[in-house]
Amino acid sequence: MEYVSVILCRNCGSRYVEVNEWTQDKKAVFHCRTCGKKEIVEWFTLGRCQVTQTELQKARDTKAKPGKYER
Ligand SMILES: [Zn+2]
Repeated sequence: MEYVSVILCRNCGSRYVEVNEWTQDKKAVFHCRTCGKKEIVEWFTLGRCQVTQTELQKARDTKAKPGKYER
């Protein structure tokens, strides 16, 4: 098994975050399919794989927040 980082929406907690749009200057537009929030991200992108519900919960439990970093 390998460690991966999971992108979660900070607004609604959704894991349905995708990149389906790019700016003219090739920055990714991250989009939450659940709540519709969008944000331009320049130096990061995302990939997909399947994980178990247990592993997904671990990602939620260790998510970075202001004043608290991921473990
Ligand atoms: Zn959201």
